[in-house]
Amino acid sequence: MTKIYKESKAINDLSFEICKGELFVILGSSGSGKTTTLRLINRLIDPDEGAVYLNSNDTKTMDPVKLRRKIGYVIQQIGLFPHMTVKDNIGLIPRLEKWKEEDISNKVDELLTLVALPPDLFRYRYPNQLSGGQQQRVGLARALVMDPPLLLMDEPFGALDPLLRMQLQNEFLSIKRKLDKTIVFVTHDIEESFILADRIGVMHGGKMLQIGTPSELLFEPSNEIVSKIIGAENKFKAIRFLQAKDVMIPLDKSCLIESDISCKETINMMISHKIDSCIIKKSNSDIAQVSLIELLNEKDKAKSILAIGNKLNVFASNDTLSSIISLLKSSNESMAVIIDRGNVLGIVRINSVLMNLV
Ligand code: ADP
Ligand code: MG
Repeated sequence: MTKIYKESKAINDLSFEICKGELFVILGSSGSGKTTTLRLINRLIDPDEGAVYLNSNDTKTMDPVKLRRKIGYVIQQIGLFPHMTVKDNIGLIPRLEKWKEEDISNKVDELLTLVALPPDLFRYRYPNQLSGGQQQRVGLARALVMDPPLLLMDEPFGALDPLLRMQLQNEFLSIKRKLDKTIVFVTHDIEESFILADRIGVMHGGKMLQIGTPSELLFEPSNEIVSKIIGAENKFKAIRFLQAKDVMIPLDKSCLIESDISCKETINMMISHKIDSCIIKKSNSDIAQVSLIELLNEKDKAKSILAIGNKLNVFASNDTLSSIISLLKSSNESMAVIIDRGNVLGIVRINSVLMNLV
């Protein structure tokens, strides 16, 4: 798309794709065209050239009002109606859509619970009786009321103080896991983008310079401007907000043993797959590693594989690199295993991660 304001291109030949179910962060400094991009997606404005496709349908062919009911929109200024209660703010569109009063009440309570505002305390408050963070939660609840498959969020936590901001980011991540939504999240805050994003698109001068995961952008910036925006010259800073999933080496399934087989069977399996070490999952919290040499040296080859191995430190995919490093350092180990909802995803070798940071 291209969008021109008085001969200057706010959006300049912008083309990119967002995948279903991902949290796509648009990162860029002020004036780079982030807000304009969101407004083009939900047709608050139309492009001068190009088009937006939703599931391969050109949004120009859709009724803009109907389109926007399928797209939640959360903005920094929140935009709650001051003379309406929390319930009426959230229930506004359902009421226009002639939902039954009981259904509206149930939905409002469900959403307030989701955004961690106890309904009995907050349902009948007015916006000026809420803190900034609480207003932002109501804004999110309102954006979710029609259960839109797509959610656009424009610097929603930008006006909050740093501590509250971090709390809301974490809450938002856990809300996101409960919802099956595609989310486009705009921010100028690198740290926020690293914490939240599945993928980040770096915008500058109305163009998308590079799209990638946090670690791709950090370790392989495509040019100087991306490198500056991401802060790649100072990668060490990133250990505070890089997460396990960003730095892990995905685990090859042939290296993972989850069943009760013997050492001998394991040796045969490892030789046939040409691997020299494997991960043994005994339970969600008890995961070990064993090398081929150790197995060959094991006297009782009939022994269960579940009875041997060196226990590994286990981390969740969203644990930060700094927390992994400090725990490994205190236990004097160099490797950790990353597990998410009971699935072993990969391993982190701390030495190779640190080598990449310098
Ligand atoms: P961001 O959200 O990244 O800070 P915007 O998308 O709001 O940036 O703006 C991109 C550029 O387009 C800026 O230079 C801004 O001044 C210009 N712009 C945005 N909206 C308008 C408008 N309605 N009229 C004129 N210029 C605009
Ligand atoms: Mg903006």
